[in-house]
Amino acid sequence: MNEKFKNKIIIAGPCSAESEQQLDEVLEGLQEVDLYAFRAGVWKPRTRPNGFEGKGAKALDWIANIEKKFQCPAISEVATCEHVENILQRGLSKVWIGARTTSNPFAVQEIADALQGNQEIEVFVKNPINPDINLWRGAVERIENAGIQKIGLIHRGFSVVGHHSYRNVPIWKIPLDMMAVFPTYPMLVDPSHIAGKSDLLPEIIQKAMDLAFNGMMIETHPNPDEALSDPEQQITPQKLIAILSNTTIRQEDSSAAEESLESLRFQMDQVDEDLLEHVRQRMDLAQKIAQYKKLHNITIYQKERWEEIRKTRTQIAQKMNLSESFIRPYLDALHQESIRQQTEIMNPKSEQGAARDY
Ligand code: PEP
Ligand code: MN
Repeated sequence: MNEKFKNKIIIAGPCSAESEQQLDEVLEGLQEVDLYAFRAGVWKPRTRPNGFEGKGAKALDWIANIEKKFQCPAISEVATCEHVENILQRGLSKVWIGARTTSNPFAVQEIADALQGNQEIEVFVKNPINPDINLWRGAVERIENAGIQKIGLIHRGFSVVGHHSYRNVPIWKIPLDMMAVFPTYPMLVDPSHIAGKSDLLPEIIQKAMDLAFNGMMIETHPNPDEALSDPEQQITPQKLIAILSNTTIRQEDSSAAEESLESLRFQMDQVDEDLLEHVRQRMDLAQKIAQYKKLHNITIYQKERWEEIRKTRTQIAQKMNLSESFIRPYLDALHQESIRQQTEIMNPKSEQGAARDY
């Protein structure tokens, strides 16, 4: 398994450090995994007060002992400059900035200022709570502007309205775009906070690996049911080892310029979705025009307008190297659908006849 993951960054450990014994059990259980670092939250950002808010600075002593015992660096979350001071004092070399913090430019700036000029520290920046790439990008730029050179990125999904099976919905296009903006920074997946429950972890990890993510940060706990935070999504070290063994790591193209087939297909899916969304927006406009025509008693079909559309669109298409034999029937189909939808609005009762006639 180590061979398979030799080019991947694996960070595992509990949601929060609960005791030195707990950390010891996790690292013991993960001996055969070549960990880049073990994670352990010390100050937990809880959405509502009175939940478990972490063991605080005293947990940093346990973390330091475990780092030494297992010769494995630790990574923990910082959200304020006091956190940064505490972490630096105890000599930790890695921190992550959580989703709630990334969402707040003031908080990120405060952390960046507290880390100013530090050449030792490695900072992983999680995506913000909401799917706004600029917020994520801006947080990374603030850290860069503080002179930090070791930076990584983590996709932990987004809080999205509506019903879905994830705790935080992955929107893969956003981390892929971030990889293009920051090609030298590793991009990790945090399947735990995406999934919110352990059974979804394998498919999320596989997806991220197929999209050429550079690794993962995943929550592991010796006894997930008893965990003080995020019990549903944590897994035992044994379970993590089983998931990693069942994950397929596919070859990335050897030439750096070439993108993997999976990534190209994925981008194509996104473009098709965008295309359909644009078609829908065009139909919305057609419907608004229909309302106007109805009000002013104007016919649906207007010969000059349609001829102008055909001419201008065909010219644009030709400049884009799209053949006339493709674009003409495409425009006709668009026009027919617009007319069908306009007819429904202008003349609801005769809609079927009109659509068929045209
Ligand atoms: C965490 O990693 O424990 C955490 C709180 O994550 P996020 O910021 O992604 O919610
Ligand atoms: Mn957690």
